[in-house]
Amino acid sequence: MWSAIRQFIDRHDAFVVTSHINPDGDAIGSEVGLALFLRQVGKKVVVMNSTETPEVLRFLDPQDEIRIYGEPGTQPLLDTVDACIIVDVNNWEQLGNIGRALQARRMPRACIDHHQGSTDGFANHTAGDTTAAATGLLIYEMIRDSKGTVTKPIAEALYAAIITDTGTFRFSNTDSRVLRAASELCDAGVSPFEMHRKVFGSKSWGAGRLLGPVFSTLESEANGKLAIITATLEMVNNAGATYDDMDGFVDLVRAIKGVELVLFFKETEESDIKVSLRSNGNVDAHAIAKQFGGGGHTMASGMRVPGPMQRAIDTVVSSCRNLSAFSTR
Ligand code: 5GP
Ligand code: MN
Repeated sequence: MWSAIRQFIDRHDAFVVTSHINPDGDAIGSEVGLALFLRQVGKKVVVMNSTETPEVLRFLDPQDEIRIYGEPGTQPLLDTVDACIIVDVNNWEQLGNIGRALQARRMPRACIDHHQGSTDGFANHTAGDTTAAATGLLIYEMIRDSKGTVTKPIAEALYAAIITDTGTFRFSNTDSRVLRAASELCDAGVSPFEMHRKVFGSKSWGAGRLLGPVFSTLESEANGKLAIITATLEMVNNAGATYDDMDGFVDLVRAIKGVELVLFFKETEESDIKVSLRSNGNVDAHAIAKQFGGGGHTMASGMRVPGPMQRAIDTVVSSCRNLSAFSTR
């Protein structure tokens, strides 16, 4: 699995490490862990994304090194690197603006990812493993395979990645492989209590104020098997919250007994609607997202659909009504 990526690393001296728009803990943790490893083996690294690091994840980047593509100086900075490693994403849309810059420069690209449905030609070398609970797990396995040293900062970054994507070892992707890796990361200095508190226990007051308005929109369809929640920009602004403050809301709805699928409709500044899909196992969320040009995993996927809100809800809900998991027989 790792020899092509290792050779790719050996062949180049300076890398840009990047990940998806609206980066989550798996994106940032994987990038930071990989960047620290690359420096350990003598490489120059810049980490650069298309959109900002969410506030709660800034502790993973204590030197504030992660650059946002398009900020002053980032174009010339990209000219100083000779290769790119893309983590936790496998398509151009989700990579955002930096993707066009990489393509324009014909930058050699490697991709390390665990999402379904990889795009042909996205990278020259891909280490794709959809059975891995997190991309951070893959980075950990790559570092171990390369006989690298898992320092405490690397361990914390990769542990943050893993708990993000497994919901701290509760989601269906949790298996002995990821638990074993987590245990080894603890041996390398991670405090599970501290890391959980940083990643999930650092909600803003805005997030707290937004819970009420968003949950008051809760609706059920298909005899309670389909649950729907909605967030308008007005709700977000009135709560003094940000888009990232809604992370985790959808998982609270998934916990309702009998729910097979949750749809969370979020109005965006770009005037389209971001939909988060979460399944409890009997519905393939990825298949639905794919129909609408999105992607992700069987249990957790996402997509963007045109607004306005009510039309987006009507379109997506009516396409879900016929799912066999919702039939009453
Ligand atoms: P979330 O609902 O937390 O934003 O995303 C859940 C999963 O779906 C993540 O793995 C994410 O990468 C994927 N995902 C979310 N939105 C999109 C999208 O618009 N396109 C694709 N291809 N994947 C998405
Ligand atoms: Mn991930």
